[in-house]
Amino acid sequence: MGRVANKIALVSGAASGLGDSIARMLAREGASVVLADVNDASGARVRQEIEGQGGTAAFVHLDVSCEDEWVGGMDMVRQRFGRLDIAVNCAGLNVSRSFPSETTLEDWRRVMAVNLDGVFLGTKHALALMRQGTPAKGSIINISSVMGLVALPGIGPYCASKGGVRIYSKSVALSCAQQGLDVRVNTVHPGFIDTPLLRQGMAQMGVPEEAAKMYDALQPVGHLGEPDDIAYGVLYLASDESKFVTGSELVIDGGYTSR
Ligand code: NAD
Repeated sequence: MGRVANKIALVSGAASGLGDSIARMLAREGASVVLADVNDASGARVRQEIEGQGGTAAFVHLDVSCEDEWVGGMDMVRQRFGRLDIAVNCAGLNVSRSFPSETTLEDWRRVMAVNLDGVFLGTKHALALMRQGTPAKGSIINISSVMGLVALPGIGPYCASKGGVRIYSKSVALSCAQQGLDVRVNTVHPGFIDTPLLRQGMAQMGVPEEAAKMYDALQPVGHLGEPDDIAYGVLYLASDESKFVTGSELVIDGGYTSR
């Protein structure tokens, strides 16, 4: 207990899946957590459940692709908590699979807006608030994917957005180090984790039970990961245990990218 005690964290996409698990994990380990999401009802439920277990949480409606909403969200963090120590940019989505010559510009832009603009804006505004600290200090964790390292057919926009998250985060890590700022920036690359996003992908494949078996068989360890498998990795990067870790990529994938 207490690996991030007294720290202030913001988690985007905290109303579901990985963001939900990450927010609960950080709260269990002593952080005050701001949950940012467009899904107000689920965000409110996660907040209530964290508070019901003795944690501290607040919810803010925040579309990660909208800069004005980041400005408002960070104002709320500053007013309520005074500073920001941890930012986890987790909100993300995918669109239906398509052959590249059929992929619409609208789908491409939708994925980029949330997965890449969202990480850019979340990193930018978290860093701005962290820089105001005395001393300036913080940990920014951007959720990429194994699809930012290796590709699959039919999901080019998603792969491109996640590859972008990876290399953008490294550049920001170097900028901070160059300025002597103790703000660390790292990416986490989940493999196939059982969340609503993954289930939605399975449903699109027609027979969800068959798709579930196929997804299990794709994993060297023979099964999907659980959201907490990712949350434990984020906890490490959020805590001071990882004080020498920046610009790195933590792959948590049951061996998927080792083949
Ligand atoms: P999820 O669909 O369960 O949760 C995504 C959350 O993001 C939802 O609460 C949703 O409301 C929120 N969101 C979507 N658009 C938003 C926006 N514009 N602004 C704010 N919030 C928004 O998905 P998940 O599986 O938990 O995925 C979380 C992240 O992890 C994503 O970035 C995803 O790409 C990444 N990821 C997931 C897997 C996996 O197997 N589940 C694997 C690799 C990477």
